[in-house]
Amino acid sequence: MVGLFTAIGSFILMEVVSWAMHKYLMHGPLWRIHKTHHVHGKGFFELNDLFSLFFGSIAVALIVLGLEHDNLYAVGAGIGISVYGLTYFVLHDILIHRRIKALGRLQNPYLKALADAHRDHHRTRERDGAVVFGLLWVPIRYFRQQNRKGRIA
Ligand SMILES: [Zn+2]
Ligand SMILES: [Zn+2]
Repeated sequence: MVGLFTAIGSFILMEVVSWAMHKYLMHGPLWRIHKTHHVHGKGFFELNDLFSLFFGSIAVALIVLGLEHDNLYAVGAGIGISVYGLTYFVLHDILIHRRIKALGRLQNPYLKALADAHRDHHRTRERDGAVVFGLLWVPIRYFRQQNRKGRIA
């Protein structure tokens, strides 16, 4: 049970951590790396993928060390970070940016709002002046905007 709660807590915390990291580091001192995601090149991989690799390594290390030392907090945190990373990959990389063309058009109002919000983030190719740095936490205006345009379906 302790592991489950830690996993859920870590999942939620990851949205906060990645929001802060995106806003203050990626659009700050680490812009050179993150820029490769805003200005698209030709290859399949972007230098920006290093961030996924970074979080993935932390998650694997937590799970391995946690299992070795019978520490359910570490295992739970590792699983929470992994599930967040997987969710991020499916929504951000597959659904929004279509790096893998596996899924059809978005029908769900939440997913549509999420995609609109992230598209807004990509309106700029500059380090400064970007909006909406989170992914799963979608500002309410993107739902209102949807209703106004009457394009829920
Ligand atoms: Zn960005
Ligand atoms: Zn993006």
